[in-house]
Amino acid sequence: MSVRTFQRGAFLPHYKEFTESEPVSTLSLPPEVVIPLQQHIGAPSKALVAAGDKVKVGQKIGESSAFVSVPVHSSVNGTVIAVEPRPTFTGASVESVVIAVDPEQEEPQWPEQDHTALTKEEIKEAIKEAGIVGMGGAAFPTHVKLSPPKPIDTIVINACECEPFLTCDHRLMLERTFDLVEGATLIARVVGAENIVFGVEINKPDAIEALQKRIAGEKNISVVGLAVKYPQGSEKQLIKATLDREVPPGKLPLEVGVVVQNVATAVAVFEACRFKKPLIERVLTYSGDAAANPGNLKVRLGTPIKHVLKERGGIKGAPPPTDEDVPMPPHLVGKVIMGGPMTGWAQSHLDAPVVKGTSGILLFSPAMVVKTAHSDCVRCGKCVDHCPMFLYPNYIGLYAERGSYERAADWGALDCFECGICVYVCPANRPIVQFVRETKREIAAARAKAK
Ligand code: SF4
Ligand code: SF4
Repeated sequence: MSVRTFQRGAFLPHYKEFTESEPVSTLSLPPEVVIPLQQHIGAPSKALVAAGDKVKVGQKIGESSAFVSVPVHSSVNGTVIAVEPRPTFTGASVESVVIAVDPEQEEPQWPEQDHTALTKEEIKEAIKEAGIVGMGGAAFPTHVKLSPPKPIDTIVINACECEPFLTCDHRLMLERTFDLVEGATLIARVVGAENIVFGVEINKPDAIEALQKRIAGEKNISVVGLAVKYPQGSEKQLIKATLDREVPPGKLPLEVGVVVQNVATAVAVFEACRFKKPLIERVLTYSGDAAANPGNLKVRLGTPIKHVLKERGGIKGAPPPTDEDVPMPPHLVGKVIMGGPMTGWAQSHLDAPVVKGTSGILLFSPAMVVKTAHSDCVRCGKCVDHCPMFLYPNYIGLYAERGSYERAADWGALDCFECGICVYVCPANRPIVQFVRETKREIAAARAKAK
């Protein structure tokens, strides 16, 4: 198999060995779930339930009439105890449905149907009704992405999982190979794409083999081996590597006839179409050098990360968690991240719930965490050499730091997709992604004001 890639980026240590051989196990239910009404890009859902209501697993509990939005569903049988703002992984408070979980939970039964007989419209409706969003972290509503205004000829399945530590997609490729390919085929049917390409980094030879076995004899489905390089799984870099097509700056993959979906999303699409199963749970990677018991876990949405830590034994070397507390000695744990180490969010507490886009919960020892304050740019040029978007992160940082956001935009801040490579390679620890986010926020506010 020839190995393809994109220009620039960086070769990172993988740290996949913590969990890549761990089969997916199901986490127990917490006593309470917190389900944010906005877990997606677009309009928030409005609550359909109130305190005191009994809810069933899979029941729709929030919805919006906006096109760019998805419904949210209860992940458990239980009783709503509040609809109120609760902190999420970004630190912001979001209106959430808080549900006390019934001690007795019967296994949900989903009605099975022939997914191959569904029309395009029925598939898209099933995807929307199931509340499916991009599960690689972007959380963009999938039914919107599958309504492109231009012809699409190819679906690229992002099976790279290029961030260090994360292995949940790898496990899905091994354990749900049939469902993944069926999901990809359903996605292709919705947009009328003739071809499906799985882009897999070659550090997952068993996943490549499983996929090749499953698609043997299929003329329009292929597996492309990709170099183990970050950010191989970002849309533009993935399309360049798999299809040798360039998505123009500021444009979307549909400009070159492509829609990209990730592995977990394709599996969720299969479940929605085959079983009418809403998105109530997901597989995530629980890992990091400070985690006592890393693994790949199927977790109900709304489960607070504190419960995940408690069930997995907390911090390596620390006293075991109790029902009330998860000991977090500062000499043993330096950082908790939701998502991957490159694009995830550091947590200041353990209350945030697992949501549709949560691909990982990572616990790092102090030794793994850079705590040095950033200094002035030393003009080494490393960030420019590595930026996969060919931007000038150094200048973005310099101008944003001075509050010159339009100048930061001139140097490409709005084209940055926040992969974090520039921060990783910067010897001055410049927080360039923070500068980029600040620039995007300020520019959006200024442009809205000018309208
Ligand atoms: S400027 Fe943006 S796209 Fe370029 S390396 Fe930095 S975070 Fe990645
Ligand atoms: S890597 Fe850091 S120090 Fe080097 S040019 Fe970029 S911002 Fe400046």
